[in-house]
Amino acid sequence: MKRLLTVIGTRPNIIKITQFRRVVKNYPALDLKFVHTGQHYNQNMSDVFFSELDLQSPEYILSLDKTTVVSQLAQIMEGLEKVVTEYKPDVMIVVGDVNSTLAAALVANKMNIHLVHVESGLRSFDKTMPEEHNRVITDSITNTFFVTEESGKQNLIKEGKDSKNIHMVGNTMIDTLVAYDKKINEAEILKTLGLKSGSYALMTMHRPGNVDSKEGLLKLIEVIRELTTDQTVVFPIHPRTVNRLKEFNLLQEVEKNKNLKLMEPAGYLDFQKLILECQFVITDSGGIQEETTFRQIPCLTLRPNTERPCTVDIGSNLLLNFNKAKVMEEVAKIKKGNYKKCAIPPLWDGKSTERIFETLSKF
Ligand code: UDP
Repeated sequence: MKRLLTVIGTRPNIIKITQFRRVVKNYPALDLKFVHTGQHYNQNMSDVFFSELDLQSPEYILSLDKTTVVSQLAQIMEGLEKVVTEYKPDVMIVVGDVNSTLAAALVANKMNIHLVHVESGLRSFDKTMPEEHNRVITDSITNTFFVTEESGKQNLIKEGKDSKNIHMVGNTMIDTLVAYDKKINEAEILKTLGLKSGSYALMTMHRPGNVDSKEGLLKLIEVIRELTTDQTVVFPIHPRTVNRLKEFNLLQEVEKNKNLKLMEPAGYLDFQKLILECQFVITDSGGIQEETTFRQIPCLTLRPNTERPCTVDIGSNLLLNFNKAKVMEEVAKIKKGNYKKCAIPPLWDGKSTERIFETLSKF
């Protein structure tokens, strides 16, 4: 029996592993356990995904009481050390680019456990993004790389990784979309919000580079004002963004806008239904660039770069700076039906988790 420990800690992590337990059942020689680091711990950002996606609870759950990034990393590492000592995994699987990914990678390295990185090789080449450091450091000590798009493979090869350890498997986030498609279609959120299909735009915004400064928030407010002059914008707001708006005394500016439907972070099924039925998405999220590409829904990403270039080259994503004129120019194209043509990247077919476990079973 080979023991695999998968580490998750945040909303996007959970959404990327939903098919792991189903698929591992096909491999009796693999034993899979999960540890939740507690990085995202509340109802909206974690629990809701386990309940509505019918996911079994993780076998190990750490609790974090430290608030700075450094103390959080240290506490996750200490917690994981205990889990590793008890379960004795042969393989540690980490996902994405969050602090839990980095902490777990370091623990695997220090405790001589084979490290597998799912969604490896993505690079924004933007060292102001905390996630970019997490990606680069994690990949520097990873043994087996699972990549979602061709750029990931090329980046790893350029960094000197051996191509025999790099596996192009597609995107496990898309596996989740495919697996829950029926439930997504049945979600009632449009009725709840009183919205008609195709009548609204969907917004998310939470990257530190966009929301941590007053200047960034003022630009965001301007873009929202412009977008809402003639249409509804639905904005499930990330806890980080609410906190920053409060800190700079700007929350009321956003709340008073009648065409803006401000809401708590949405559950997965509701959020996916909102993507499916909207006119376009405006975001700075990583994962949402991929989900909109799969759905072929126009996505305006308010960032200077992306670590997911296939969503721009092949998919429905477009990078824009926080420039309201530029944003409105693209919105006008979308409304006229003149937006760019797009397609779905290779292997984004709902079977990526199967490819991952097939590879792991052959170790
Ligand atoms: N998401 C969600 N509810 C929301 C906003 C996002 O379920 O209100 C989902 C989204 O569809 C995607 C994931 O959360 O699957 C992306 O998370 P986030 O944008 O926080 O992280 P990133 O991908 O930027 O790391």
